[in-house]
Amino acid sequence: MNPVTKIIITGSKGRMGRALVACAARNPELVVAGQIDAGDDLKTVIDAGDVVIDFSSHNATPGIAALCAERGKAMVIGTTGHSDAGKSQITNLKSKIPIVLASNFSTGVNTLFWLTRKAAEILGPDFDLEVVEMHHRLKKDAPSGTATTLVEILADARKLQLKQSLRHGREGIVGERTASEIGMHSLRGGDVVGDHTVIFATNGERVELTHKASSRETFANGALRAAQWVVKQKPGLYDMQDVLGLK
Ligand code: NAD
Repeated sequence: MNPVTKIIITGSKGRMGRALVACAARNPELVVAGQIDAGDDLKTVIDAGDVVIDFSSHNATPGIAALCAERGKAMVIGTTGHSDAGKSQITNLKSKIPIVLASNFSTGVNTLFWLTRKAAEILGPDFDLEVVEMHHRLKKDAPSGTATTLVEILADARKLQLKQSLRHGREGIVGERTASEIGMHSLRGGDVVGDHTVIFATNGERVELTHKASSRETFANGALRAAQWVVKQKPGLYDMQDVLGLK
């Protein structure tokens, strides 16, 4: 058995926070040393933990990360919807502490990331690229962080400039589709935990890669696995592909 890892969860009363607390309670290699939600002071418990797992809000993450860097605590960050400036504030701390930053912690979605790159490389520029995601009606950011990672992978595999290529939905007389576009479409409704489909379409055929999450436990268990992994790493910025050894 591995040594016990002491975790602190920020955003502990949220949908993901509650899933993390429940999954950690079933893992004898983990102890929940602190549960922090809006209004609580992380400073009062941070020294009791080895690693902070943050599923609070993109607004809160930079401040939480700065405190972790000050106290030398490893981090697992699951929040999405970061601005470029917010993301820089987080990633600039990579010389001080080990950080796993991932838009999605599920093993299945990380397999989808890998397959998406492979499919884009094999199918080549004749195939039009579109990404469709659906989430529950309470989700605050759009598109999802996972969908953003998928279009980043597609742009990288096709050597396209993402900012110029991205088309968020389409409305009105937008003209014919160009070969360099990557379409992105966000659906919202009900209690959908997270669906993502990458479509590769050309004349005469279409490939669709789909992942559907039906429980938040898949994200929670992935984040807990990342927490046990990150406490053993040197300062740096890592993602779930590093944790799963997919690189
Ligand atoms: P949620 O709204 O249910 O929960 C967020 C919680 O954070 C709330 O309880 C809120 O009170 C708390 N919070 C807000 N500000 C805080 C602060 N300053 N300090 C401490 N707590 C604070 O949201 P959710 O569905 O649990 O999602 C949380 C985040 O995780 C979102 O950014 C979401 O997109 C992301 N997410 C990531 C993954 C992944 O695998 N990476 C999976 C699911 C959700």
